[in-house]
Amino acid sequence: MSAALELVEVRRTYPGSPPVESVRGVDLTVRDGELVAVVGPSGSGKTTLLNLAAGLDRPTSGSVRVAGEALEKLSDRQLAGLRAHRLGVVFQQFFLLEHATARDNVATGLLYRGVPAGQRRAAAEEALERVGLGHRIHHRSRLLSGGERQRVAIARALIGRPAVLFADEPTGNLDSATGDSILELLRELNRAGTTIVVITHDDHVAASAQRRITVRDGRIVS
Ligand code: ADP
Ligand code: MG
Repeated sequence: MSAALELVEVRRTYPGSPPVESVRGVDLTVRDGELVAVVGPSGSGKTTLLNLAAGLDRPTSGSVRVAGEALEKLSDRQLAGLRAHRLGVVFQQFFLLEHATARDNVATGLLYRGVPAGQRRAAAEEALERVGLGHRIHHRSRLLSGGERQRVAIARALIGRPAVLFADEPTGNLDSATGDSILELLRELNRAGTTIVVITHDDHVAASAQRRITVRDGRIVS
């Protein structure tokens, strides 16, 4: 299997006195089709690592490759393009447009790809079906429950069929039953072929993932 994602000796130091070494030399390969759970205490560098892997931030040193493409070789503009085409990210806070419908929220996932509006809406409906929200297409996001909002956010991240879907504590704002159903959805999407990297405190997911990576003090310890 080829690598969907490869991190080589990745470091991220935030300037300051003293500087904060958030990620201190991480090597990681995620193969196509894997579901990888990242666990570790608060402050251990998980979010920093995800931001680097998802091209939202650039490492101080080291290399991040997505589907073989080295992100450090890309200009900011090229990186934004690659993000739009190859990467999807889901956050703990859903970051939805409150007054827009579920469909319009999901369709924004294709905004930076130059897809015509009609096609964006059709793709959004299909993505909402995939996350079990086919019956909520025209609901405004502020009227949706927490679990439904997170499904919308997942559909928005999935709409472009990314090489890797990243999720940073996607169940952090949900009650445990709702959180479980979101994790089941991620597992289902993975079974259908999506490569997923999920940061979680939840032992269930971590236990059910094919691979679990523990981060401590900015390093992978197991
Ligand atoms: P986690 O997601 O595991 O809780 P983070 O990646 O958010 O950890 O943070 C790792 C460390 O980096 C923490 O010590 C945090 O305070 C620090 N940190 C995160 N973001 C910044 C930033 N923008 N500037 C300075 N320090 C930061
Ligand atoms: Mg975090």
